[in-house]
Amino acid sequence: MDKEVQTLQKLTAPLLEWYDTYRRDLPWRQEVSAYGTWISEIMLQQTRVRAVIPYFQRFMAAFPTVKALAAADTEQLLKLWEGLGYYSRARNLQKAARIVAERYGGRMPDTYDELIALPGIGDYTAGAILSISYGQRVPAVDGNVLRIAARITGSRMDVLDGGNRKVFRRWVEQAMPAERTGEYNQALMDLGATVCLSGGEPLCPSCPAGEICQARRQGCQRQLPVRKKKKDKRVEHLTVFVLLRGGAVALRQRPERGLLAQLWEYPHVPGTLDETAAARQMEQWSMTPHRWIKQLTARHEFTHIRWEMTGYVIEAEGSGAPDWLWADGQTRRRYAVPSAFDKFTREVEPVLIGDKHDL
Ligand code: SF4
Repeated sequence: MDKEVQTLQKLTAPLLEWYDTYRRDLPWRQEVSAYGTWISEIMLQQTRVRAVIPYFQRFMAAFPTVKALAAADTEQLLKLWEGLGYYSRARNLQKAARIVAERYGGRMPDTYDELIALPGIGDYTAGAILSISYGQRVPAVDGNVLRIAARITGSRMDVLDGGNRKVFRRWVEQAMPAERTGEYNQALMDLGATVCLSGGEPLCPSCPAGEICQARRQGCQRQLPVRKKKKDKRVEHLTVFVLLRGGAVALRQRPERGLLAQLWEYPHVPGTLDETAAARQMEQWSMTPHRWIKQLTARHEFTHIRWEMTGYVIEAEGSGAPDWLWADGQTRRRYAVPSAFDKFTREVEPVLIGDKHDL
């Protein structure tokens, strides 16, 4: 047996004992179900626990079962997701729910192969569902668990490398206890979130792994896990037009596939345009600026791309492009505008709901 597995095995008893005292009281732990575990884990992939809690509660109230999610209105689903980002995850949830409703009568499958075949469910989520909801001995290894495993074993393998991640997963799998598997995985999640922290100083004196942790022994906690530098993101410059006409704002729908697919956005064009060039662009949409209200800049980071945006809030006249719609204070809420445009939305929302008649 690998010495790393032996080291991780020594963690089991103190970890579970620690978990019995310090476990976090979270809504999806109060009444455990495969559906609730799935929804919570997908939400937690992109957002911190405290922010997820109200989203989870609203989501479960709106769609309490797999079948309810399968039958949900997609626009309503995306509205509930607004603020969590990565809308493709919400779409995948619904696609998977439809498959589960049709193929499994609405009950989440309980085998790894069936779960992993569903849209949006990867190794980590399958492990979480199988261990937490069905008591199976399957690890759930995410960035938190990789960090803990690297520190406890003192491993200097690059955790961003797929092959290395498989090795870490195998170590955790071999070190898992036969009983309390769901609690074991949740204890690792809690340890990573509250004690063996990613940024700043891990709280080693409060850690149940204190006696066995190689990183602590060697004083190299902050150097682990090893992450080789990622490639720089591609930067895209955009000019965003927040066009107001008669108390309504212009929105257009993004293409069916790709980044932020099918969501609604303010019209924009590549490049950074000054006012003269922006007015020329508006002519192409059969519009003229009546009043330039505000110019502002915003930045948004996606996984591989960064948007650097220059935006103009303009009172405008004219028809606009044929595929746009004009949303007023009442109708705007029906359309999910991604958080990438939040800075512009914050400017325009008070105008649409009539709180502010001038900017
Ligand atoms: S002893 Fe410190 S570095 Fe090691 S697992 Fe615990 S918190 Fe992390």
